[in-house]
Amino acid sequence: MPNDGQIVSLACEPLLLLCQGKCPEDGWDESTLELFLQELAVMDSNNFLGNCGVGEREGRVASALVARRHYRFIHGIGRSGDISAVQPKAAGSSLLNKITNSLVLNVIKLAGVHSVASCFVVPMATGMSLTLCFLTLRHKRPKAKYIIWPRIDQKSCFKSMVTAGFEPVVIENVLEGDELRTDLKAVEAKIQELGPEHVLCLHSTTACFAPRVPDRLEELAVICANYDIPHVVNNAYGLQSSKCMHLIQQGARVGRIDAFVQSLDKNFMVPVGGAIIAGFNDPFIQEISKMYPGRASASPSLDVLITLLSLGCNGYKKLLKERKEMFVYLSTQLKKLAEAHNERLLQTPHNPISLAMTLKTLDGHGDKAVTQLGSMLFTRQVSGARAVPVRNVQTVSGHTFRGFMSHTDDYPCPYLNAAAAIGMKMQDVDLFIKRLDKCLNTVRKEQNRASAVSDDKAEAADVEEMALRLDDVLGDVGQGPAL
Ligand SMILES: *Cc1c(COP(=O)(O)O)cnc(C)c1O
Repeated sequence: MPNDGQIVSLACEPLLLLCQGKCPEDGWDESTLELFLQELAVMDSNNFLGNCGVGEREGRVASALVARRHYRFIHGIGRSGDISAVQPKAAGSSLLNKITNSLVLNVIKLAGVHSVASCFVVPMATGMSLTLCFLTLRHKRPKAKYIIWPRIDQKSCFKSMVTAGFEPVVIENVLEGDELRTDLKAVEAKIQELGPEHVLCLHSTTACFAPRVPDRLEELAVICANYDIPHVVNNAYGLQSSKCMHLIQQGARVGRIDAFVQSLDKNFMVPVGGAIIAGFNDPFIQEISKMYPGRASASPSLDVLITLLSLGCNGYKKLLKERKEMFVYLSTQLKKLAEAHNERLLQTPHNPISLAMTLKTLDGHGDKAVTQLGSMLFTRQVSGARAVPVRNVQTVSGHTFRGFMSHTDDYPCPYLNAAAAIGMKMQDVDLFIKRLDKCLNTVRKEQNRASAVSDDKAEAADVEEMALRLDDVLGDVGQGPAL
C-alpha cells in the first residue's frame, strides 16, 4: 500500500513535470515512475483497447518481452519529416519525447550552460550526431567543402566529417608545458588561406584525453564570429564537467557557437545509442531535427528520462560532485604511484577529466614495453586506461596521422591515461592503482630479463607470468589468497 507521501507525489510530481518540464529536485521511486510510464503508454494508439489498425506501421509487437522491455512504447519518436514532431498515433510517445527534451535542457542549464536555448535527444551516438549537424550546415554554405578541426585523436569525431562528405583540415596542437593546446594562429591563418566561404564550420572539442586539453573555445568562438563561420563543438563527455560547460557558456557569450553535441551514455550512465544536440538559437536546432529522415527509436529518450526522474536534480548534482572528488583522488594516487616508479604525472591543469603519467622508463626498445603494459592492464581487467606510444602511425579514412593517439606528431614521451568519469568509485581508483603498480613492476622485470636470458627461459617466464596474472585476478575479487 502506498503511504501518504507517495499519494502526494503521485498526484503532484507528474503534474508539475508536465506543466513545467523541469527535472524534479528529488528522484522518484520505481513504482511512481512505472505508474507514470504506464499513464503515458496508454495514450499511444497501439495500446487503446478498441484500436483497429489498418496501416503498415501500427505498433504491433510479436513478443511480450519486447513490449515490456519498451514499457509498451512501440511507435518511436518523431514523424517522417521531423524527429521532434508530435505523432498523432502516439500521443504518449510524443509527450515522452517532449518531456525528455525539456528535462535534458533543464539539466544542461544546471550543468553550466545557462543560456542554452534548445536541445533534442537523437538516437545516434555522438559521431553520427555530429554528422547530422554538418549535413544541416551544408545547405546554408553551398560553396564550403572544408571543416577546420584542431586535432584530437579519436576516430569517430574525425569520421563524422568524412561521412558527411567534407574534407577535414587538421590543425596541429601546440605544446605548452606538458599540455597540448589549440593553435589559434594556425586556425586563423587556415581560414584566411582557404577563404571563409569555403569553410563549412570549425569543429572544436572540449572533453579529451590528456595531455591534450579542451580547445580554447572563447578565442575560437570569437574567430568564428569575426569570419562569419559556424562553430560546432564536440562535447562528448564534457556535460559532466563544469569546466567544459563553462567554456561553452563563455564561448557563446563572447563569440559564436552554433551547436554542441554530447553523448548520452558518457554523461548519464545509460546504454550507448544516443546523443544530445543543443544550441543557442532555437530555429537552427529545429533545422537539425528536421534534417533527420523518418522516425527514430525512443529507447535512448526513454532511458535518459527514467534516469533523470529516478535521480532527480539533486541525484545528478551529487554524481557530478562525486566525480570531481574522484578526479582529485585519482590524481593524488596516480601522482604518488608515478613518482614511486621514477615517472611523473603530466601537468595538465586544463583537463578536468583525464590524466596522464609518463612512461619514460619504458621507452627505448621501440614501443614494445609500452604496448605490453597496455595489454597487461587489459588482461587484468583494467579497462579504459590507455598506454600511448609515441611513434604510432595510423591512417583513418585516408588521412595519415603520425603519433596517432597522442594528438600530436611527436609527443616528448610515451604515457598512460586514466580518467575520472561520472559514476567512478573510490574502489575503482584503488584497484586500478594496485594493478598498475604490479604491471609496472612486471614489465620492468621482463625488460631487465629480456636483455639477459635465452628464449626458452623467457617461455618459462611466460608461464610464471600467466600464473601470477590468474592469481592477481582471483586475489582482487576476493576469491583466493594472494601468493
Ligand atoms: C566518445 C567520443 C566521440 C564519439 O563517439 P561515439 O561512439 O560516436 O559516441 C567523439 N569524440 C570524442 C572525443 C569522444 O570521446
